Amino acid sequence: MDPAKRASLGARSEVRDDARTETRLEEQVKDWLRYGEDLGLAPYYRDRAPLHAITESGAAAPEESQSIATSSDISVALPESVPAMMAAAASGRAPAAPIHVASSSASQKSPATAAMKIPPASPAATILPASAPSLFEAMDRIEGDTLPRIREDIGDCTRCKLHKGRTKIVFGTGNPNADLMFVGEGPGRDEDLSGEPFVGRAGKLLTDMIKAMGLQREDVYIANVVKCRPPENRLPEKDEITTCSPFLMRQIDAIKPKVICTLGSCSAQTLLQTAQGISKLRGEWFDFRGTKLMPTYHPAYLLRNPAAKPEVWKDLQKVMAVLGLQPKKR
Ligand code: URA
Repeated sequence: MDPAKRASLGARSEVRDDARTETRLEEQVKDWLRYGEDLGLAPYYRDRAPLHAITESGAAAPEESQSIATSSDISVALPESVPAMMAAAASGRAPAAPIHVASSSASQKSPATAAMKIPPASPAATILPASAPSLFEAMDRIEGDTLPRIREDIGDCTRCKLHKGRTKIVFGTGNPNADLMFVGEGPGRDEDLSGEPFVGRAGKLLTDMIKAMGLQREDVYIANVVKCRPPENRLPEKDEITTCSPFLMRQIDAIKPKVICTLGSCSAQTLLQTAQGISKLRGEWFDFRGTKLMPTYHPAYLLRNPAAKPEVWKDLQKVMAVLGLQPKKR
């Protein structure tokens, strides 16, 4: 074939390939947008800062979102003794750095937050990471979001494969204005049947832990990373976590707790977006979108390893110091 004709045919086929790639990309973007709508994230898409603003302000991002350690470590003004009931519970990105917080009284609105630089909440000021953020990381706050609205958005969910084996969706329970929120992994058999989180053996231990902190179950809010029971109580899989965790994010944003206490590795790793193990994470304060987060061991782990209970009690004492709580009198 004459070389000029061959070149012209090659160029035309490249144009066709480009057009096909563009259509495919367009379809993928539309899919993502539909998925976001489905999760109730439409306001995020609507209010999202324009791409040029993200690029222009990109240099400021790391400093803006960093938490700053205060000079003093936490001082626990509580008895060291472990109460009887307790004595008898990826991303590949670097983990969030631990923060140091000061203790406070319950009546104050979290003075420790004054010691931290909290990432700006306004959508215009939100800096998204330049490299392909997950929907979870990129998620912005939904103004005026409420727990009933989040439950309604979940609906009779079939978004991931966990729906196939579930009896009831376990949304979460407790005080919608709680200062303290516990986040577990996912429902077990008892929770799947009752629709309430942490009602089985591990749940009873969690209830005892809450009481030891001088609180009642109704004072706190309890939720899980995934809302449907994984078969045979296996760990939730990545796609299930990615699909379900935006609802947890919305729950946290609606409740606005002063402290989040994650139970076990799944919830800590999900919220902190780290692959770091729980034994490294526990007992340290982290900043989660402006809220103090304390990872500790899961009560189910404590049932198997009661020797770890004093460590959990230490973690809970740190939480109590920040919230100005006194341990339950025996
Ligand atoms: N384990 C969890 O992580 N969550 C529950 O609700 C029950 C057991």
